[in-house]
Amino acid sequence: MLVEGAIVDLEGIRPGYVRFEGPTVVEVGQVGTASRKPGERRIRGIVVPPPVNGHTHLGDAAATVEPPATTVAEMVQPPDGFKFRLLRDTSPTRKVAAMRRALDRMRREGIAAAIDFREEGVEGVRMLRRAAARSGIDVSVLGRPLRRPVDPREVAGLLAEGDGIGLSAARDEDSDELDRIGAACHSAGKRYALHASEAERESPDTYLRGRPDLLVHLTCATTADLEQVRAAKTTVAVCARSNALFGRRPPLAELARLGVPTILGTDNAMLHAPSIWRELEFDYVSSRLAGAPVPAAFLARAAFVEPWRWLGRAGFASVTAGGEARPIVVRLPVDDPAYQLVTRSTEHLIVRPGSRGRPGASP
Ligand SMILES: [Zn+2]
Repeated sequence: MLVEGAIVDLEGIRPGYVRFEGPTVVEVGQVGTASRKPGERRIRGIVVPPPVNGHTHLGDAAATVEPPATTVAEMVQPPDGFKFRLLRDTSPTRKVAAMRRALDRMRREGIAAAIDFREEGVEGVRMLRRAAARSGIDVSVLGRPLRRPVDPREVAGLLAEGDGIGLSAARDEDSDELDRIGAACHSAGKRYALHASEAERESPDTYLRGRPDLLVHLTCATTADLEQVRAAKTTVAVCARSNALFGRRPPLAELARLGVPTILGTDNAMLHAPSIWRELEFDYVSSRLAGAPVPAAFLARAAFVEPWRWLGRAGFASVTAGGEARPIVVRLPVDDPAYQLVTRSTEHLIVRPGSRGRPGASP
């Protein structure tokens, strides 16, 4: 298959053509210079690495009715927030089935990987591993220790079976504990992540303890806080739709202006469908609504490029001949590709090279 139009990847945004054999990129070049091959399918569109959902809590997908309109604390604070009562009152079988449905939805929407904060200790990690097996989504599972004070053996168990640790918030833990958890993650070659400055501002000196690889939200962070986060070389995951439910918004324009590595997530599956396309559009529109517009190119990078770098798989974000990337094609006008991808994409416009191009087809 030959795609002529535009490429959005690690190297940037540019016009070009891409030739595929099956799902593999075999040729990349300038528009109008591709050789003709008899019988080859030719389409126009934007070639882009598959998006990554950079922050989920898939366990909450077990909720099927409107959650109460309440504060962040009453909604998601451990141990008795609405979300934790839901997890407690739902059987493991139902939770695994709900996570499987959420993963299937992501696969249909072209998402290839997700970074999940999985509550419920080692058993929680196992449930998500079961749900993710054969899902077509590469899920990084960041587990959460249950016991307090934190038990190093439980942390070791989480790191043996998961991809790292994802904590609720720095203020919920003893600050020396954060150093120990971060060190345990890094010495195991795994990731340490936590929520920060979501409902109210916290000092970066608290949430940067333990050298986190990922901070989620930073809705209440000041410019100076964001500069400190950038200096610490920490990536930020933003979840604008989730924040909006609680009357807040992420500092997208500031993150873009400061050049902080940023990824996008859909947050709690009980609040939102895990669609990165909806997230992208909302990011763009809500930042305009707030009078602090964020460039579409920054959002495109946050959905398609930065998360692959964070996952240590930058090759997946690079559309090059013979590379390991398995890009998708989005059939949209190609003159302003980032703007089109961010504001207009749906899964119905996706073509997957190598899979007969049906929307929702298996990758
Ligand atoms: Zn979260």
